[in-house]
Amino acid sequence: MEAQVTLGEHLLPYQWKQSPRRRTVAVTVHPENGVVVHTPSRYSRRRVEAFLREKAAWILKHRARFEQERARRRALRWELGALLPFLGARYPLHFVLDGGREQVRLEQGRFVLGLPLDGDGAAFGGRVRERMLDWYREQATALILERVGHFKGLLGVTPLRVRVKQQKRRWGSCSAKGALNFNWQLVLAPPDVLDYVVVHELCHLIVLNHSPRFWALVEGVLPDYRERRRWLRENGHRLAL
Ligand SMILES: [Zn+2]
Repeated sequence: MEAQVTLGEHLLPYQWKQSPRRRTVAVTVHPENGVVVHTPSRYSRRRVEAFLREKAAWILKHRARFEQERARRRALRWELGALLPFLGARYPLHFVLDGGREQVRLEQGRFVLGLPLDGDGAAFGGRVRERMLDWYREQATALILERVGHFKGLLGVTPLRVRVKQQKRRWGSCSAKGALNFNWQLVLAPPDVLDYVVVHELCHLIVLNHSPRFWALVEGVLPDYRERRRWLRENGHRLAL
């Protein structure tokens, strides 16, 4: 259920989820879902609110951070000089008149996008984003397939199929049948982090859970996987375009 609580001068909306299986109370702050409190069933609203007040500083800190991120994303304009991410770095966007071929190239430390001049500024702005996103998806597909090819040999596994697509809130997944899905936005993260997600999903072809045996497999391929995973946890939400 949706509810709200006053924390000092803040009126904080939150979702309250009750579960009969749960024994403890927990709160999460999610970039899109906001504040979610999980409690056992038959938990009183008064106790939920007392718990939220106790955690107020932590909750407000995280909310403020996500709000800053959203503001930064809104500020990203697909225009000359915009700093666009790719494999953990940022490159400025540059335009050239290119006979209408609308191609994207990454060369000499900048994105070069060829666009025709048609006098329609608004349409032009929309196309920049569209062309760049197409380019990112293409790069992501090629790169992720290449990395899957590299690591699957090391692990001695063969996925049923590999797809790179738009996924909400997931970087990768592995089905029980062995089909792997990856989020194209991994191509915005540093290559080490992309490799970590590839190895993680490939290891699920051997162990389909997150048991110690699973993590030992991941560690066998990437001894520093913990740092890569931490990077993704701390920075992943900032990758969205
Ligand atoms: Zn997993």
